[in-house]
Amino acid sequence: MKLLYDYHTHTVFSHGLGTIEENVIVAKQKGLSEIAITDHGFEHLAYPVKRKKLKIMREECDRLTKKYGIKVLLGIEANLLDKTGRIDIIEEDKKYLDIILMGYHKLVKLKPKQLWFSLKTKLLKTKKQIEENTDAYINAINKYNIKVLTHLNYGIKVNIKRLAKACKEKGVLIELNGKRINFNKEEIDYMKEIDTKFIVNSDAHRPKKVGETNIGFNFIIKNNIKFSNVVNIG
Ligand SMILES: [Zn+2]
Ligand SMILES: [Zn+2]
Repeated sequence: MKLLYDYHTHTVFSHGLGTIEENVIVAKQKGLSEIAITDHGFEHLAYPVKRKKLKIMREECDRLTKKYGIKVLLGIEANLLDKTGRIDIIEEDKKYLDIILMGYHKLVKLKPKQLWFSLKTKLLKTKKQIEENTDAYINAINKYNIKVLTHLNYGIKVNIKRLAKACKEKGVLIELNGKRINFNKEEIDYMKEIDTKFIVNSDAHRPKKVGETNIGFNFIIKNNIKFSNVVNIG
């Protein structure tokens, strides 16, 4: 099993330790054909990428694509902000971005109403709350051109069956994250049954971790996931 590309990596523009170029060099060394730079969304409380940096990040990705001969995508790991499915992307951001990943992160700048959303989603594990969390995700994938949902069930719990079905319909990939995978047997069996499309990513926060997807690979083998249902392995 070989990783073809890594679509979830961070840099010094948010919470990562390396530059875009340092991530790209490791991707090249590991034989990847593509890498996406996906720093934390603008409303992240601790480590947001700054909106005004998007232009130079875009230029840097294009420069490195030419320099190293591997495709360097500019993406973002956007934040889920409220139950209507709003995320921290505005129209003018889209012209810089090749790909949008989205995940729930508890450290997000929020207005009081959104803060209540965030606290509830995190703390309450009732069936009603889990369905509300799931609605928020489904609203988001209906509203935005999101390609990947990152580390599901981390931080807040969702109804995987309902969300996986919606992802399948919209062509949204479910991530097998390089640091954490939070699916139980029943959820895995359901996703296998409906042929969910997965992507394995590193979620690297330092260059040397780019392309490191052992947790995802072990998950695939242990759970007998069809290789053809994982878009970036060969
Ligand atoms: Zn994340
Ligand atoms: Zn991340």
